[in-house]
Amino acid sequence: MQHKRKRYRYSRMTRKRRRAQVRRRVMGTVAVVGVCVLGLGFGVRQLTGIGQSGPVDIQADTTSVQWEGAPPINVELLTPNEWSRPQIALQQINGIVIHYTANPGSTAQQNHDYFEGLKDSQSTKASSHFIIGLDGEVIQCIPSSEWAYASNSRNSDTLSIECCHPDESGQFTDATYQSLVQLTGWLCHRFGLSSEDVIRHYDVTGKDCPKYFVEHEDAWVQFRQDVQDYADSL
Ligand SMILES: [Zn+2]
Repeated sequence: MQHKRKRYRYSRMTRKRRRAQVRRRVMGTVAVVGVCVLGLGFGVRQLTGIGQSGPVDIQADTTSVQWEGAPPINVELLTPNEWSRPQIALQQINGIVIHYTANPGSTAQQNHDYFEGLKDSQSTKASSHFIIGLDGEVIQCIPSSEWAYASNSRNSDTLSIECCHPDESGQFTDATYQSLVQLTGWLCHRFGLSSEDVIRHYDVTGKDCPKYFVEHEDAWVQFRQDVQDYADSL
């Protein structure tokens, strides 16, 4: 019944109307394909930074992405707010600052959620571009084109990496260390830095952070070497 009526209606269409209908369909298809291509181009630009000027926003608007040489990064950007993500443009990247959480046993997710919660608690200004967890998982909280509140006077020209640790010694697990070497080495490669540009929070303020690398200079020297070796391999 339905079929018959349809055919009847179609046969009554004038040639002109049929042509107009075909034209509409073709234009519709072109429009859909165009939007897809535009979307794809935008996505690729977000991932690679190609076509952008100034500091490269390596990961905004993406989720769970992986780049060659980078460890897997889970992008969970903080809600913009004046306490942890003030959205101040990071005009230049001259270094990478390593931190430890000073909260033994806490996870990357818990530290992320703490930063996120500062918009409500308003207890302090704090955040970090990246957090590396006890199992080596990486969460990105702030795009690399914006300030994080992590490294005092160097907030204006550095990226920050916060590392979880299992106990009071501040020593990182092997998994955390491996991800830290990869992430730092990849960022050096990505932003044209060397391991000489990788510093401790201690080097900025004298604070005992990251504790293990402050108290074990040899481990810090080795870490920088591992970062350089990794960056050179990319
Ligand atoms: Zn620190």
